[in-house]
Amino acid sequence: MLIGVLALQGAFREHEKMLRACGEDMETRQVRLPGQLEGIDGLVIPGGESTTMGKLMIEFGLLEPIRELGDRGVPIFGTCAGLIMLAKDIAGSEQPRLGLMDISVERNAFGRQVESFEDDLDIPAIGEEPFRAVFIRAPYILSVESSVQVLARFGEKIVFARQGRLLAAAFHPELTGDARVHRYFLETAFCN
Ligand code: GLN
Repeated sequence: MLIGVLALQGAFREHEKMLRACGEDMETRQVRLPGQLEGIDGLVIPGGESTTMGKLMIEFGLLEPIRELGDRGVPIFGTCAGLIMLAKDIAGSEQPRLGLMDISVERNAFGRQVESFEDDLDIPAIGEEPFRAVFIRAPYILSVESSVQVLARFGEKIVFARQGRLLAAAFHPELTGDARVHRYFLETAFCN
């Protein structure tokens, strides 16, 4: 299994480590150019700054090819800025996006006082044990259409959701020692 990790910015190396920890047959590839999307079985879009990431995706000719991957049913997992890139609607913004998931998101949604924080999240889909989630200038999901399954909330706010083979997390599962979220991505993407 070969999973591409978009390597324009963000913690792509940490994502690669997590994915590799999920199985011996798991290979990863850093993606910076359209040709590197060829042959991948899935793609991870890390955090970063979604406006910058969108600009870079256009500059590197990646926006359209990644959108086509998603349209073809190739599994894509976006974290934080990656979640924003996946959304159809970004509140108050016309910034470039893939627009693959039927979700509406709010950027930098936890306010200045709490730019970064950690908390234990209940994510029943990955098991009973709470997941230590790291939020960094995180977005949240304002609303989802019926095709989208909500997997976790922080208070009222939706922070983890899935639509078929597309998965989106407002937090950074690559920054903890817990590979359950990455494993969930791989399992739901390839074992159903
Ligand atoms: N605040 C960033 C944005 O709007 C996302 C932050 C992150 O990816 N850690 O793009």
